[in-house]
Amino acid sequence: MRQIVSDPMSAIEKRSIVISNNAGATSVGTLYVKQFGARDRVLRALAALGLVWLLAVLAILIPGLHFVLVPALLIAGPVVAFRRFRITAQNERATGACPSCGKEFSLALDSDDPLPLSTYCPPSDDPIQLLDGSDATARA
Ligand SMILES: [Zn+2]
Repeated sequence: MRQIVSDPMSAIEKRSIVISNNAGATSVGTLYVKQFGARDRVLRALAALGLVWLLAVLAILIPGLHFVLVPALLIAGPVVAFRRFRITAQNERATGACPSCGKEFSLALDSDDPLPLSTYCPPSDDPIQLLDGSDATARA
């Protein structure tokens, strides 16, 4: 199941995922993935560049270390900005019912958490795995 929910800033794509526990029980969940359009990617890259160069300016005030920090941060700015520009989508959160305790949960994800992801059910701390829906179908 793929569904794009339109949003003026950036689109959130919903994907089916499979939640499994160590006993092999599974349930179906939803992964929310934020999609960045061209404009979002440029703005995110410029924000990263601005932040790193701001740190470079602040580093001028640190005696001694500024000889290293200022040039390093000036070079790092475009590198960080380019890496940020290449990010087209980022995992936001996963929702679903825990296969162990049956409770519904919503789990915030780090932007660089790829699936499959081993984590813990927020209500009960049971170890669970979040699997891509298409992977799980292929294995079944
Ligand atoms: Zn649970």
